[in-house]
Amino acid sequence: MLDPPNQPCPSAPALPHFRDQSDAQLRQWLADRDAPGFRLGQILRWAYTRAIPEFAAMTDLPADLRAHLAGAFRLWVSKPVAHRKADDGSEKLLLELDDAATIECAVLRDDRGHCTACISSQVGCGMGCAFCASGIDGVARNLSTGEIVEQLLQLNCAVASAVPPQRLTHIVVMGMGEPLANLDAVWNALERGRVALGISARRITISTVGLPQGIRELARRGSQYHLAVSLHAATDELRSRIVPANRRIGLAEVMAAADEYFNITGRRVMFEYVMLAGLNDQPSHAHQLVALLKGRPALVNLIPLNSVPELPYQTPEPSVVEQFAAILRRGGLNIEVRRRKGDQIDAACGQLRRRRSP
Ligand code: SAH
Repeated sequence: MLDPPNQPCPSAPALPHFRDQSDAQLRQWLADRDAPGFRLGQILRWAYTRAIPEFAAMTDLPADLRAHLAGAFRLWVSKPVAHRKADDGSEKLLLELDDAATIECAVLRDDRGHCTACISSQVGCGMGCAFCASGIDGVARNLSTGEIVEQLLQLNCAVASAVPPQRLTHIVVMGMGEPLANLDAVWNALERGRVALGISARRITISTVGLPQGIRELARRGSQYHLAVSLHAATDELRSRIVPANRRIGLAEVMAAADEYFNITGRRVMFEYVMLAGLNDQPSHAHQLVALLKGRPALVNLIPLNSVPELPYQTPEPSVVEQFAAILRRGGLNIEVRRRKGDQIDAACGQLRRRRSP
């Protein structure tokens, strides 16, 4: 049985989440109970690589240790309340947390055999990008390390129960929230999650609205993760209209931090550009983007808008996207046009969650 239990344990709210505990904290916890150090590895293997419903299922641990664990921690804090599958292979989970907040995570599959987990970093988002569903009601709170890791484990359960069983191969932090506004928890969750799932840092991408301090902090920590910066416009005037966070940061600062990330990590930065009909999709905008990125070892990801019913923005016609892409290519930029995935399951950030809200 791969699915975690749906019933919260009666004493749930009082107990800390097991997956919020660092190795050092767990080592201390074991030492306080005179348990030998090798138990840590056993417990972590169960908690992170096997979808057991409760501590009692950790069958190679002494019964009293299992009982102690169950008395001290909760093993799961999220429960799937909706699970949607689309014809293109994408799947989306809506998870409910302790405080009844809901978050979204998804699996995206492609024809290269990639099976990519897309995870959220916050409940809602405080960045307020004009076209994005996640930010409509602002940010409620940061997710904890455990709540972020648990999304990976829930998605891993979902793909493991596919026929034939699959494994996650990539992770993108491109769900709800601004990951660099919750950097510690995201960092700890990725460190824990990638080891547990055997996914190398080079197959993991963190997408940010472009918070320079956070970008520099990632580089300082020796990040080997790919960085994606949500650009959406190549001038301050236009970017500040689409991405309100730009008003206090400014493009020059974002680009300087992105350059520094490349210089320190050697990782080519990806720039995401969501195309909004009539607003940032004209040939003049493409030329501005070429001018901004020329000479930078960058990859541009063009993303035709996944339109959000509550918001007034439209997806450009395919011919407009193609014309824009052609200008970028002629300008010497490396580009990819992201195929839309998961339209049927409200896969754009924050959409399923809004659909379920009263
Ligand atoms: N806050 C981070 C990560 C979350 S969103 C960031 O801004 O990068 C991940 C990507 O999805 C971002 O590039 C975001 O601009 C894009 N996105 C959000 N809503 C979208 C929509 N409705 N259609 C297409 N892309 C969208």
